[in-house]
Amino acid sequence: MAKEVSPGVLALRKVVEDVYADARVAKKEGKLVGWSSSKFPCELAEAFGLNVMYPENQAAGIAANRDGEIMCKAAEDLGFDNDICGYTRISLAYAAGKRASRKVDLETGEYVINPNSGKPLKDENGKVVMGEDGKPVKDPKTMQPYTVLDDIHEIEALPDGREKDLRRAAIKPYRQMQMPQPDFVLCCNNICNCMTKWYENIARMCNVPLIMIDIPYNNTVEVHDTNVAYVRAQFDHAIKQLEELTGKKFDEKKFEEACANANRTASAWLRVCDYLQYKPAPYSGFDLFNHMADVVTARGRVQAAEAFEQLEKDLAEAVKTGKSTTPFPEKYRVMFEGIPCWPKLPNLFKPLKEHGVNVTAVVYAPAFGFVYNNMDEMVRAYYKAPNSVCIEQGVSWREGICKDNKVDGVLVHYNRSCKPWSGYMAEMQRRFTEDLGIPCAGFDGDQADPRNFNEAQYETRVQGLVEAMEANAENKEG
Ligand code: SF4
Repeated sequence: MAKEVSPGVLALRKVVEDVYADARVAKKEGKLVGWSSSKFPCELAEAFGLNVMYPENQAAGIAANRDGEIMCKAAEDLGFDNDICGYTRISLAYAAGKRASRKVDLETGEYVINPNSGKPLKDENGKVVMGEDGKPVKDPKTMQPYTVLDDIHEIEALPDGREKDLRRAAIKPYRQMQMPQPDFVLCCNNICNCMTKWYENIARMCNVPLIMIDIPYNNTVEVHDTNVAYVRAQFDHAIKQLEELTGKKFDEKKFEEACANANRTASAWLRVCDYLQYKPAPYSGFDLFNHMADVVTARGRVQAAEAFEQLEKDLAEAVKTGKSTTPFPEKYRVMFEGIPCWPKLPNLFKPLKEHGVNVTAVVYAPAFGFVYNNMDEMVRAYYKAPNSVCIEQGVSWREGICKDNKVDGVLVHYNRSCKPWSGYMAEMQRRFTEDLGIPCAGFDGDQADPRNFNEAQYETRVQGLVEAMEANAENKEG
């Protein structure tokens, strides 16, 4: 039976689809399309009515569509080190024109099907049909063509004709693989310093202007007035650069509207995140991860605010009726620390489901809830990205979420891509256990490159965490 999808979720899906579709139309019409880091103040670009796309969100989508590895390898073949963040490698390969494509037979025009793909065929009783070789027969409807790497610059250099048409059409049709190339880039390094080099490289490769806002790591909990003044001056400079780029004057009214929308979206998003505090929770942190595309790509749009407000209503109803999207009874509640392994979401979910572990707290999602009342507060909000705050702030955020969301343990993703995030996790784990008396388990993985995830290790760590949570519960009862 198809999974029931609430009106809010449907509205959120449409918002992201529209962002991508609008950018494709804008590009065709010869309008400017930009690429932006996810925590660049989107309100500035919105004030100029610009179409902006988000490579981090795109890379997550490419990874979830299982094309992270081929794109990461493509970047490595261009000379980028395997140790660079997977989002960055995917994005740089894409900026260079590399695309994941379906293998096409240029003679017949047919796609070449990979015999290893597809799900087992089931008979009318739901039993797997076995072939003469003793192996399950594949359901032809679910089989996919081989994935190969292509290059849009090579394709565009071909003379018009059959090969050009076939190769263009073979590029995978999902939206993240169809994102228009950039005419300018917007970068803010409040996320990490890898961003700076990533966007400089895009700007160089695509020969487009880079607008940069430097928000340095803050080693105090407070954001001092001098820091605010430093960043506000950069906002003014970015506005001048955008005026030059677009040939338009800064529209104060549009800017205020974008700020109002962004605040409305962020507030609704935070309220949606808070629904994880219910016991049992009406949904899982994995659902939140799926909605992050909206806060990243569309928080300045009124449609995103409306969709989150609808989702909030859906969740209120779910709490009333005792419904949950989690397909198992909630026995344990954990915080998932870090970015998920997008190419391995089913593998992450499987052992959690087996042990009745629901993810009822995540750090990554509420980090996009920028709420402010004026320009100074806006600067302060953009200073508070997970990797740009000091460890005291980081611990206090997480421990607050753990308490509010009533977790029994913490599952930490040591994400090979995200070194700034993973680097201080060992100390965080120690503090969570000392301060909250809850067990923590870590596993090695990667947000985008599946080569760095080991399913057996992950399952063993989840098993260990469950045993420790069980022992903890018994001790408490005793
Ligand atoms: S914050 Fe982490 S995941 Fe994001 S770009 Fe930087 S290194 Fe990559």
